[in-house]
Parts: sequence; C-alpha cells; structure tokens
Amino acid sequence: SPTLGILGGGQLAQMLALAALPLGVKVRVLEPDPQAPARLCAEHLQAPYTDPVGLDALAECDAVTLEFENVPVGALDALRGRVPVRPGAELLARSKHRAREKHALREAGAQTAPFVEIAAPSDLEGALERVGGRGILKTSELGYDGKGQVRVASQEELGRGWAELGQVPCILEGFVAFEREVSLAVARTPDGRVAFGPLVENVHRNGILRTSVYPAHSPDGTEARAREMARAVAEGWGLEGLLTLEFFQLPGGELLVNEVAPRVHNSGHLTQDGGGVSQFEAQVRAVLGLPLTDWSPLLPCAMVNDVGVEGATPDWAAVDTLPGTRVHLYHKAHRPGRKLGHVNLVAPDEPTLRERLRQLELLIP
Ligand code: ATP
Ligand code: MG
Ligand code: MG
Repeated sequence: SPTLGILGGGQLAQMLALAALPLGVKVRVLEPDPQAPARLCAEHLQAPYTDPVGLDALAECDAVTLEFENVPVGALDALRGRVPVRPGAELLARSKHRAREKHALREAGAQTAPFVEIAAPSDLEGALERVGGRGILKTSELGYDGKGQVRVASQEELGRGWAELGQVPCILEGFVAFEREVSLAVARTPDGRVAFGPLVENVHRNGILRTSVYPAHSPDGTEARAREMARAVAEGWGLEGLLTLEFFQLPGGELLVNEVAPRVHNSGHLTQDGGGVSQFEAQVRAVLGLPLTDWSPLLPCAMVNDVGVEGATPDWAAVDTLPGTRVHLYHKAHRPGRKLGHVNLVAPDEPTLRERLRQLELLIP
C-alpha cells in the first residue's frame, strides 16, 4: 500500500489523511507543532520542516504533498530527486508570492485585478491612481485569512498602511467591486490527466471565509469559463496535484482570479458531505496518480466556518439536531479569529438548503 507524505499537519492534513486511509493509503506528516491536528490520524514526524531525520522519513514515501504553501525552500531542496513533491517547488514559489503569482496567472491567460508592487518608498508615488484610486495593500508573502492586508483610499492611508505592515514587500491591488466570489479546484495527475471540482460560491466576513454554497449558479457559462482558466493554469504551470482558484466575478460576468492555493481549499470542504468524491480524496488521487474524474457533490450543500469569537461558542446541540448537518472539528485551542472547525450542510433541494443554512448561521457566532 502506498504511503503519502504531507508537509504540514494542520486541519487540511487531518482531512487529507482521513480521505487517504480508506483508499489503502498510509499517511506521514512532518510538522513541528506537537499539538497539530493531523497527529491524531497520521504518523506524526514531529520536527522542524528542515530536520534531516524528518525529511529522510518523508523521502521514503511514494509521493509528498503539502497542506500549506509556505513550506521552507530548504525542505523542498532536501527532498529534490529523492521523492516526488506534488505540486513541485517551482509552482509553490509562484503561488506563495502574490506578485509572482499574478504575473504567472496573466501569462497563463487569466485576468487579475490591477496591481502595483511596493518594495521601496518611491513605489508609493502614483501607485493608488494606477490601481483606480482605491485598493488593498497586501504583503507579498505569508498572508492568509485577510491577515497582512490594509484597505486604503488615499495617499496618506497608503503610507500609513505600508508602515503598519512593516514596510515589507507588498502589492497594492485595485479594489474590485465584485458581484460575488466563486472558487473552483483543478487536479492534474503526473501523467497529465485533468479533472475539475465544482464551482462554489463564497461569502467572506472580515477577510475570512464564512460560507460556501454549492451549486453556484452559472450564468453565461461561468463554470465553463472558470474551468478553462483552471485548465490553462494547471497545464501552463505544470501542475501535479490539486490547486484551487479564487475568483471575483464582476457585475458583467467577467471572472478575475483573486489568488491560487496549491492545494485543497476551505471553500471545497463541502465536498466531504455532498456525496461523491471529496476534494481531499481528489488531491490524494492526483498526487499518487490514481484514477480520477471530475468530482462534485450529488446534492445541494453548504459549509459554515466556525471561527473563534471572544466569549462565544456555537450552539453545538442545536447544530447537531438541525437536519443535514455534519460537524468537522480541528482539535485546536480556541483563539479569536482562528478557524476551529466547520459545519457541512446537505439538503434534498436548493430552497431547503437555503432555509437550513439561514438557521445554521444563527447558531454559529
Ligand atoms: P485566504 O485565507 O483566502 O488565503 P488571504 O489572506 O490570502 O485569504 P485574499 O484572498 O487576498 O486574502 O482576500 C481575502 C478576501 O478579501 C477576499 O476573498 C475578498 O473577499 C476580499 N478582497 C481581497 N482582495 C480584494 C480586492 N482587490 N478587492 C475587493 N475585495 C478583496
Ligand atoms: Mg490566500
Ligand atoms: Mg483568499
């Protein structure tokens, strides 16, 4: 039976491992945190990502994948030539750096928001005008869940915002007045087979994903266009494994790629309970070169994130008794703003889903 190595042992690794086990696949995670979620369901190599002993143990696996994009370059270098890492180092280098990522997206033929790179004080001059007068300043690296971002609408705010972010390399992105946000995952096997996940509609709150809903309506071939872009990125970037594209859809229907995650994505968690193959199983299959076709829920479904809120917890008893819910917890200590778990919801039809989602949202602060 194959063994899959995973760099990182957070909740995504936990859920990858839970999807891998029934396929006859064993899982090893390399993760420095002794309390990391995936330690409970996978062999835990508790060591820094650059630890030679941990990396040797990963190198014995049939393939290595990852659950976060900020894997230290040293770890990837140490594994090079010893075990396939999927996605590979070159793709990771692109997707973890916002400016490089946007350039590479445009090269693959995808559209993005206008942006300017900010690396020196002189870059601030005229930057706001060039992106349309209003924007979001984002650190080029390491941001997630809206961290490392400041909204700016004047030259003064831009200067102050950059100082707040520590004057590290940033991009200033034009503010996009989108109609809605959608996402789509694409997987590609090492021998070049491509498969797609469902188009999902997402709502964020304070920069953190709050809900995802399937199906996302697809006027004017939205889903087909999203797939076309996903295929272009997967093939253009030589994807091995799975990646997820986040899109802004403009009022006219046009799709801009916001960013790419080189892995399963929070917006795809609903595929765990809608029937059919989940995004986690899809990543495992793609990385190991197993049979894989398009995956999509069989029923309307939704997901609500449980994000830590000071002094408040979800009404779990009520969540459990609401029809169609399934709770997924990450075994993480409560902290405000931290993703602690999610609840998937499934319903026989869309009106029922909407009504249950309305009720579910009231139970999760
Ligand atoms: P993630 O957790 O998805 O990795 P992140 O920290 O990388 O988040 P982004 O995806 O860049 O952050 O932004 C988070 C959210 O903020 C977006 O999903 C969107 O709702 C809003 N947002 C980001 N950039 C823009 C923009 N240029 N215009 C309008 N809204 C934006
Ligand atoms: Mg991101
Ligand atoms: Mg995002």
